[in-house]
Amino acid sequence: MANFYEEDGFVNWKQMVQIMAGAAALMMAVSFPITAQTAPAGTPGIPANPVIPRPVGDSSAIAKEAQGWLADLIKINTSNPPGNEQIAAMYITGILAKDGIKAEILDLAPGRSAVVARLRSAAVAQPSRALLLVAHLDTVPVDKSKWSVNPFGAVIKDGYLYGRGAIDDKGMLAANLAAFIWLKRSMARLNRDVIFLATADEETSGDASIRTLIAKDWDKFAAGFAINEGGNIFVKNGKVQYAGVQADEKVAFNITVIARGTSGHASQPTKDNPVIHLAAAVAKIGNYSAPAHFTSIVRRYFEGLAPLEDDEIGKWMRSMDTADRGEHAQRVISDTSPLWNSMLRDTIAPTVLTAGVANNVIPAEARANLNVRLLPGDSIAAVVNDLNKLVNDPQVKLEVQPSAGLAAPSSSLESELYKVISKVVPQEFGGAPALPFQSTWLTDSAQLRLHQVQALGLVPFPLTQDDLKRMHGDDERIPLAAFDKGVDVLSKIVTEFAVTH
Ligand SMILES: [Zn+2]
Repeated sequence: MANFYEEDGFVNWKQMVQIMAGAAALMMAVSFPITAQTAPAGTPGIPANPVIPRPVGDSSAIAKEAQGWLADLIKINTSNPPGNEQIAAMYITGILAKDGIKAEILDLAPGRSAVVARLRSAAVAQPSRALLLVAHLDTVPVDKSKWSVNPFGAVIKDGYLYGRGAIDDKGMLAANLAAFIWLKRSMARLNRDVIFLATADEETSGDASIRTLIAKDWDKFAAGFAINEGGNIFVKNGKVQYAGVQADEKVAFNITVIARGTSGHASQPTKDNPVIHLAAAVAKIGNYSAPAHFTSIVRRYFEGLAPLEDDEIGKWMRSMDTADRGEHAQRVISDTSPLWNSMLRDTIAPTVLTAGVANNVIPAEARANLNVRLLPGDSIAAVVNDLNKLVNDPQVKLEVQPSAGLAAPSSSLESELYKVISKVVPQEFGGAPALPFQSTWLTDSAQLRLHQVQALGLVPFPLTQDDLKRMHGDDERIPLAAFDKGVDVLSKIVTEFAVTH
């Protein structure tokens, strides 16, 4: 239990016991029926919550409250492994209980849980219409020595809230919670159920992840639409350039490169030394660039982005798909941004090297790991085939690892949810558009898309490249002003999508 919190974290053991006791007390306090959440056994089709709709108000007060929730969530260390998301799940249950929302803890493994809560629109649920607000409770670990502040201290400095998970994904978690509670407080008349879901084990996609949750408890959060992480609102030169709405994601694989040779005494080097063969293979692979091709989402992304970029870059973006200048244009765009490079092609990154047993022994084997990110629809067998031709060394073999990524259909750009986001974003960000986005990273949305959910990725905070780079890195932080704006934008999207006006 002691490792739920960093020893020198802001919340100590005693405080944690208080939080847990408070959460338990609050859960008991809401055992009575609550109008909006506890649907009476009424007539099908008649809303269970027939209150007079109120005009949608200002979300700035709840954003301030949500800053506090975010700070508390950062102080609850959910570095994965081991995750230990249960305490964060209980904390959220307590927050929801204060507003009379009964949440359910869904246990996945010892100490690891998810949380689900629902605002009902009618006595009979219509899962295909429901909107799921999803975020994950766990974070990646930290290298504390590289942080300038305590990563679990939720330190506020120069308008930023620092901490592991400040953006990924506790920021979104707190914003989801705020939008959800705000909807409840506004007594809005919903035209579809809105479901809050906090998942566990996202960062390692392990046994306590959404995969298990779907297998075990799908009925509790089945929805036709979802807003998740995966896309971002990109700030450039001090203003929002565009919102990248993730509608698809690349698929991750690992390939092991194995070079074999004859072991022997290092005083008499041989040509079949596997270290040499592995190094040569890795060098060739590292310098290789797979051919570019466009998925429909990436094509639309660059079409939308070209007019927003400076003239030179815009010109190359428009030329990428032309017969005469296409190849050169693809190279210019790929060299300009690693993100753009990875959106255009399958990528292969050597990440781990393993060889040698002693300084004076030529080993029998040397290995490397390649982390591969495929464009949706591409085949790993084809990549292996290309790499085998490239390496062209009988001493070197490639093995695809079984822990493969998940190929899912992309979300539609014609869905009601995509249309609502496309409408709200320019209204909120001075005309900046929403563009369809294919993330190079993976998210829980692939699992949802495989269950016919129109899942879209949009972390609602306007963020600079510098802030975005800190996700999974050191000194992760969120500008408090961006957090407040994100709560507002998300609340407006949810209102537009799920509230009867
Ligand atoms: Zn995340």
